[in-house]
Amino acid sequence: MLFNIVKTDGNARACIIETARGKIETPVFMPVGTLGAVKAVSPDELKEVGAEIILCNTYHIYLRPGHNVVSSLGGIHKFMNWDRPILTDSGGFQVFSLSALRKIEENGVHFKSHIDGSMHFIGPKEAMDIQSLLGSDIAMVLDDCTPYPSSFEYAQESLERTIKWAAECKGLQKTGQALFGIVQGSLFDNLRRKCAEEIVEMGFDGYAAGGLSVGEPKEEMHKMVYFTAPLLPVDKPRYLMGIGDLKDVLVGVEAGFDMFDCVMPTRNARNGTLFTSRGRISIKREEFRSDRKPLDPDCRCYTCRNYSRGYLRHIFLSKEILSMRLNTIHNLHFYFNFFRDMRKSVIEGNFTEFKSKWEAIL
Ligand SMILES: [Zn+2]
Repeated sequence: MLFNIVKTDGNARACIIETARGKIETPVFMPVGTLGAVKAVSPDELKEVGAEIILCNTYHIYLRPGHNVVSSLGGIHKFMNWDRPILTDSGGFQVFSLSALRKIEENGVHFKSHIDGSMHFIGPKEAMDIQSLLGSDIAMVLDDCTPYPSSFEYAQESLERTIKWAAECKGLQKTGQALFGIVQGSLFDNLRRKCAEEIVEMGFDGYAAGGLSVGEPKEEMHKMVYFTAPLLPVDKPRYLMGIGDLKDVLVGVEAGFDMFDCVMPTRNARNGTLFTSRGRISIKREEFRSDRKPLDPDCRCYTCRNYSRGYLRHIFLSKEILSMRLNTIHNLHFYFNFFRDMRKSVIEGNFTEFKSKWEAIL
């Protein structure tokens, strides 16, 4: 994997990541294909709206259909018919957030499936084996995602596991698969710094900040984003995990992060909340009943080129499957446009203006 910085504006960066499956221009948004599908859209539609890389959740695919099944069907790219880069998370975050029961040990975590109650174990070796069999382009180390709020003592103990597991994952990295390290440390400056130092010392292909946007106040989260970015090497991609609210993305880019993921545009689309150049719209509102205008007059997506707000409101209220598809196409198109314009603003040295303009709209 190659990484080049094209231009910087303050700490904001426009970069290019080159992988064997194609190039990624950053700042980049990664749609989430939780179970091996970005909900409601096909790979062709994802390409049309501009997706260069997607994220898949290891925890979900491991439980169902199982990484061995995916591997026997040709690996994750062939399985889901997506030939561009895929990043897989380690499964750790979902083990911590979804499983009914979990027991963390020094070597990994025992957990109960949220689907059928069966017991499983994931440690660094399992996380690396699963991601290797899936065949993702970028794998993530197994980390202990420290919950919020946590005491300093607990956060420190959790951090020690994250560091130990990262070293074990690094030792198991396979050729041809990039591996990113993860910085935890809750909201404690000195823990974040210590974790960053140790993780950077191990020499990963990229670095992520984890354990943010887990319930802490926004202000605290933003403070930690600005604090963590400069602790990470300049010459490697920096990934702000699980953050995709565009206001937070602006903060992340200003701090110097390059990669973002979130279910927000796809989940909101299915709930009828749509992003536009004039702010958010809830399509179910009465005022759109006979509205012949497109969702967003400034948008050139398939949905906005062909459908009125009145129609989109009608199919949303009628629970037509097409509603989820058209809404998702629009929201993703909006996100990718936003990221392209943001990248352009960094290249042209106008990121600050871009940020203030959008902060007023979002
Ligand atoms: Zn649109």
